[in-house]
Amino acid sequence: MAASIPGIHHVTCITGDVQKCVDFYVGVLGLRFVKKSINQDLPDTYHIYFGDYLGTPGTAMTFFGWPTWPKQRAGSGQITTVSFQVPAGSLGFWSNRLKGLGVDHRMVSRFDADAIVLHDADGIEVELVAQAANDRWTPWPDSPVDAEHAIHGFHSVTMTLAEMAATFNLLTSVMGFRMVTQEGNRTRFETGAGGPHSILDVIESPEGPVGEESIGTVHHVAWRTPDPENQKVWRDTLLTAGRNVTPVIDRWYFKSIYYREPGGVLFEIATDGPGFTVDEPPEKLGTTLSLPPWFQVRRDQLDEILPPIVVPTTATTGAHQGVVNQHERGH
Ligand code: ZN
Repeated sequence: MAASIPGIHHVTCITGDVQKCVDFYVGVLGLRFVKKSINQDLPDTYHIYFGDYLGTPGTAMTFFGWPTWPKQRAGSGQITTVSFQVPAGSLGFWSNRLKGLGVDHRMVSRFDADAIVLHDADGIEVELVAQAANDRWTPWPDSPVDAEHAIHGFHSVTMTLAEMAATFNLLTSVMGFRMVTQEGNRTRFETGAGGPHSILDVIESPEGPVGEESIGTVHHVAWRTPDPENQKVWRDTLLTAGRNVTPVIDRWYFKSIYYREPGGVLFEIATDGPGFTVDEPPEKLGTTLSLPPWFQVRRDQLDEILPPIVVPTTATTGAHQGVVNQHERGH
């Protein structure tokens, strides 16, 4: 039996404009730009990664840069909301910060927590949930957001399905999730130790539009597994349960398997290691075009094709109240 899934590994989305995407996730949300790489299946396009200081599994929000894809068609069969955890008591800070940066947002209360709902540069629905528990998170000292308010990685993802029964069965009978609560058409599941980082919400929406792979949508969610041995057991378990699972694919920063859950959402199970420091030291993460060894021969060509990316620094992000606070406290 494989070790149970501890929680979310990463979430991968589609952006139509990598620069605006970087400006939002670094300049507004204060995540670190931890890796500039390519989509291994479409290697003339970017795969960029944001996260905590190290891009620790559970913090990595990633994007394919596909400017020619159709525009946002979010709907059933997709992850429709990506929720990050922020410390309880931080929503006032975040609301002021977003207001100062001209980002529309609203407050919601759901189950046992308050949250801010906003949209990223491509229109993806993002939440900041005031419920932080991720002690595996490493703060990025140069973030425009002070560590006391910073995002601690993922809280949960929400997927919208036309019909939930078969997915419910896969989650609870095969993947080790348990149903914890329900509110209207929203059902909450948890895996591993439970709590923020391990939460999956499912919204059943038979009438809603069907989602399509497009700019401003989530491409897939990856779940964590500690190592290749456990990943192999998961692969066998899922095949036995009738899922069409890919072979193990080496993504260089982790190893991955992929399959669709019955509602159509693409799931990945990714190993925790080796991680983003496999080809850059921690202090240099995201500063060069990182390519797996088998793509190195194409480096010159890719450097020419891929548009430059400018990562905002604390000097360019404007209302970086956190930095001011740090200085006031004499850090
Ligand atoms: Zn992935």
